[in-house]
Amino acid sequence: MAGTLSVVSLGNVHRGLLELAAATAAQHFELVTVIDPGLAEPQYAFNPTRKQHNASAIVRKLGQAHLKPGRDAILALGHIDLFEPEMDYVIGDGDRDFRAAVVGLSRLRDGRDDERFTRRVQLMSLWGAGQAIGLRSCDDARCVMNLPERADDLDRRSGGFCAPCKQQLIKNAQP
Ligand SMILES: [Zn+2]
Repeated sequence: MAGTLSVVSLGNVHRGLLELAAATAAQHFELVTVIDPGLAEPQYAFNPTRKQHNASAIVRKLGQAHLKPGRDAILALGHIDLFEPEMDYVIGDGDRDFRAAVVGLSRLRDGRDDERFTRRVQLMSLWGAGQAIGLRSCDDARCVMNLPERADDLDRRSGGFCAPCKQQLIKNAQP
């Protein structure tokens, strides 16, 4: 799918990180990426008992309320900890029907290692952008389209797509 991906912050996120996410997605997919005005921290998705944000509630809201005209998909980044009801946490979530994805940055930090953090943000931005434009999550742990269980799973990746995902990308790119 060629199109325009909107990249937005949830709460306060450094502009440089958004630019990195946008540039990485544009480089790997046939997409124009635009950094749109930031969104507030998603209070509506906050679970006070878990002290975490409900990932699928955010994805739904992104797709339903924040996908502007002229944008085909939306990727949001926030310094938040995401969960799904049956899991302790998730690093990201996405839905092809809502054309939206969210990446929680708080699990990606590893002390003061900025380089590692940056690379993890890049890999998760690719995963999120892929989800938002309709690629499926992949079972191959080496593939960019695999949702990692833990942040350090990302460190073992080359950043490439597995063969079936590459095929799907090519198919999606055709009109
Ligand atoms: Zn794959």
